[in-house]
Amino acid sequence: MQELIKIKELNMHYPITDGLTGNIKGYTYALNNVNLEIYENEILGLVGESGSGKSTLGNCILRLLKPTSGEIYYRGEDITSKTKKELQEYRKRAQLIFQNPYMSLNPRMKIYDILKEPFIVNKSNPVSHFAADSPSPYKCSIKNREKIEEKIREIISLIGMKEEVLNRYPHEFSGGQRQRIAIARAIILNPEFIAADEPVSALDVSIQAQIINLLIKLKENLNLTMLFISHDLSVIKYISDRIAVMYLGEIVELASKDELFNNHKHPYTEALLNSVPHPQDDTTEKKEIIKGEIPSPQNPPKGCKFHTRCPYVTDKCRIEHPEFYEISPNHRVRCFLCENKS
Ligand code: SF4
Repeated sequence: MQELIKIKELNMHYPITDGLTGNIKGYTYALNNVNLEIYENEILGLVGESGSGKSTLGNCILRLLKPTSGEIYYRGEDITSKTKKELQEYRKRAQLIFQNPYMSLNPRMKIYDILKEPFIVNKSNPVSHFAADSPSPYKCSIKNREKIEEKIREIISLIGMKEEVLNRYPHEFSGGQRQRIAIARAIILNPEFIAADEPVSALDVSIQAQIINLLIKLKENLNLTMLFISHDLSVIKYISDRIAVMYLGEIVELASKDELFNNHKHPYTEALLNSVPHPQDDTTEKKEIIKGEIPSPQNPPKGCKFHTRCPYVTDKCRIEHPEFYEISPNHRVRCFLCENKS
C-alpha cells in the first residue's frame, strides 16, 4: 500500500485569551500527538464523539488550519508550514465536502457558477493534461471556456443529475440534491484526496445511503483517497476500509474495518459499538453503555484520557499515559490492557 498522507506527532492547541487583556490564559487541546497514515485509494473512517477532534484533524490535513506542531506529508512532501501561495497546487489535489449542504452553497449563485468557481479560485484549467503554457480560462479563451462547460456537464452527469439543474439556484433543491452538488464542486478539479466531514449527518436516513453509495462509486471511478469523518459507526462500517477511533484529541484505536468490528481492544471502541442500536436485537439494552460525557479539551484528565469513563480503570491509568501499542500488523491500540500484547 502506497502512503498518500503521513501525519507525525501532530498537535493543535488553540489559545484561550482573556477578553480584557488579550493575555493567553489556557489552551484547548484539540489534537495531541496524532500519528496516522492514509494510503492511496482507501477510505479511512474517523469516528468519535463530538469534541473528539475529528474535524480539527481533517482541517489540519487540508491545511485549512496550521497545526501548533508536528508534521504533515503529502506524497512525501512536507506541507505543514507552507504558505497560502505555496499551497495553491495542494488545494487542487485535496478537497473538502462539508457537513451541511444548506450552508455550503452560495444561495445567490446558480449551480453552473458554483461549479465554475473552483476553476476561478484555483486558477485551474478544466483538464489536468492541459498544456502548462495554455492561457488561463479567465482570460476569456473561448476554447478553455468550452472545456470548462464540458467538464461541468461531465461532472453533473457523474453525480446523477441532469443538465437543467445548472440554471437553477440551491434553494430549489432538497438536502440530498444539494449534497450531490457540493460533492460535484469538490471533485471538479480532479482531486486525489477528499476529506468528507460528516457528509450525511444533516440528511434524512433514506437519503444517506444514496450519498454514501455515490461516494463509494466516485472513489472507485476516480481513484480517490478519502478521509470519512462521522460520529455514526454504522455509516463508518459501511463505507470504510480502515477505521481510526478518536477520543479527546488522540487516536485510541486504528485497524482494518473487519478487525475493528470483530476484534476491537480499546474500551472506548467497545463502548461506541455497544451504543449502536440493533432493532432486531434486544441485547443492546443489556450491554455496557458508555457513561458520562467527554471531558473538556481545555482541561483533559491526566494519565489515560479515557480513565474517567472506563469500566476497566486501574491506578496506573490515572497517572500514566498509555502508548499507541501495535498489537498485530496494522492494529494499534492506546490502552494499558494491550501493553504486553505488543
Ligand atoms: Fe481504560 Fe486504563 Fe485502558 Fe485507559 S488505559 S482505556 S483507563 S484500561
